[in-house]
Amino acid sequence: MALVLKPRKRIGLVAHDNKKQDLIDWARYNRSVLAAHDLVATGTTGTILGRELDLPITCLQSGPLGGDLQIGAMIADGSIDFLVFFWDPLEPQPHDTDVKSLLRIAVVWNIPVACDRASADFMISSPLMTGSYERTVPDYTAHNVRAISIAEEAGGPEGAD
Ligand code: PGA
Repeated sequence: MALVLKPRKRIGLVAHDNKKQDLIDWARYNRSVLAAHDLVATGTTGTILGRELDLPITCLQSGPLGGDLQIGAMIADGSIDFLVFFWDPLEPQPHDTDVKSLLRIAVVWNIPVACDRASADFMISSPLMTGSYERTVPDYTAHNVRAISIAEEAGGPEGAD
């Protein structure tokens, strides 16, 4: 199945503390491009970017308080098209499991992810950013059918517990 992404994309923005300045610099440079899209960010990242860019940004919880998971949930329900996630490769995070979950779910749903400035530069300057794009959504029917047959083998609701 393919999902058509419109020219106006929904972009998720997240940066760990040591990478926030990098994201601010990148976002400032690309402000006019970002202004043409809907922006969603984890709490602190979004608050700083909103102030720096003077653009509307939907701020979720701070990353360690569930913000990464909220972004992941938005990816899973199809409401984020593109993720810029500057994670810190040199510092362990209290929410390392959430970081891994977010990176994983982005790949599960075939979402473009930029984890450093060079990747973000390539992605934001792609002609696909300003046009529409047919994103292939992986077919997980076999996975879901498998889950249903496991439930049936367990005897359905009566057999549960
Ligand atoms: P923050 O969260 O934007 O609230 O700092 C980012 C993160 O650590 O995931």
